Amino acid sequence: MNEKFQPVRGTQDLLPDLKNTFRYIESVCRLTAALFGFKDIDTPIFEFSDVFHRTLGETSDAISKETYTFTDRGGNSLTLRPEGTAGLVRAFISNGMTQDLPLRLYYYGPMFRYERPQKGRYRQFHQVGVETLGLESPHADSEVIALAHLFLQRLGVAEAAKLELNSLGDADSRAAYRERLVEFLNDFATQLSPDSQERLSKNPLRILDSKDEGDRKILERAPKLSESLTSGSVEFFGRLQEDLKILGIPFVLNEKLVRGLDYYRHTVFEFTTDQLGAQGALVAGGRYDGLVESMGGPSTPGVGWAAGVERLALLVEGRVPAEPVNRVAIIPADETAAKIGLKMAFDLRTAGIACELLEPGNIGKRLKRANKIGARAAVILGEAELAQQTATVKDLTASAQETVPAAALTAHVQKLFS
Ligand code: AMP
Repeated sequence: MNEKFQPVRGTQDLLPDLKNTFRYIESVCRLTAALFGFKDIDTPIFEFSDVFHRTLGETSDAISKETYTFTDRGGNSLTLRPEGTAGLVRAFISNGMTQDLPLRLYYYGPMFRYERPQKGRYRQFHQVGVETLGLESPHADSEVIALAHLFLQRLGVAEAAKLELNSLGDADSRAAYRERLVEFLNDFATQLSPDSQERLSKNPLRILDSKDEGDRKILERAPKLSESLTSGSVEFFGRLQEDLKILGIPFVLNEKLVRGLDYYRHTVFEFTTDQLGAQGALVAGGRYDGLVESMGGPSTPGVGWAAGVERLALLVEGRVPAEPVNRVAIIPADETAAKIGLKMAFDLRTAGIACELLEPGNIGKRLKRANKIGARAAVILGEAELAQQTATVKDLTASAQETVPAAALTAHVQKLFS
């Protein structure tokens, strides 16, 4: 095939079965979020580049290496969103929603990152996510974590996931820790991986989640973030853990879990699985009290998470409940019957009943087709039916059949399906 017509590396077509799985995951998430009072929101998939570059910072991977940024015909620098939070906060500010706090918002949609594709990692992928704006209390953190837990539970994958939790503390805690960490790492500067060396001056906290073996060895002796937490931060983290115990949500503490971005405060968490190889993070989130302000809005606390739909789809594969179908297959004997069938099919659909009009042909093959499309009933339009203006309705689940006046067909099928 002409190379041009291959899908772009890192993208995939959502063929009907996979699309059905995505729809299922999205609807489970949306319905679970609604139980917690979250409302649905959509923002554009591209924004002015500054929305991401200024907020996510030039030092985060998502920005420095991974964005799809281009100049449009009007000369504007635009970026395909690499994540959902920055665009949502932009919408929060530009729509003047700052007076409506607290806000609980849910979103679903494609995200774009120029990463090296592998199992569970794509260049166009989808996230479901939630954000709570305007709530300072750790209860807001425990509620979004509880929402993620219930979502995974309803998908049947909670058992396969582990909740990892950490606290970055408040701005003072972070600044104090950053200083201690840099002081420690400076002694090893030349032994660090090139990525970490670069981060040492720009974003040292990110070094903590380096995957490099050599870095990890050095980090074993690094000062601990927990030792730099202010007493207020320790209390905040304690209250969150207490909440999770009340809710019966198991968690493990992971000191290495960090989010490099400056606006993160206090809580960071991830639900991870060991069933997907290297790409084990299913849900990732945290508290970002500094973000709204950094984007020019009034100081507003926020906490939320995002989950990767492709990864969840790999876990729920084969366990998506089939949608109940009340479908009818219309089986006309010939072209004259097909014309009558066309109108019958339209009347049934008008009444909200799904149906497919099959082409005249071999009856055995057509009954097979009826089965394949999940039809619960077949309407047979043979010579006798045409002569008497009737239709024979075969209940395919009960192997019973009845001949009814053509005009009464819709009412009969409705009764059959009720
Ligand atoms: P992040 O915004 O990086 O914290 O990611 C949140 C979640 O999105 C992760 O836990 C993954 O489940 C998912 N995710 C992130 N990047 C990708 C990707 N390139 N392909 C598929 N899923 C991703």
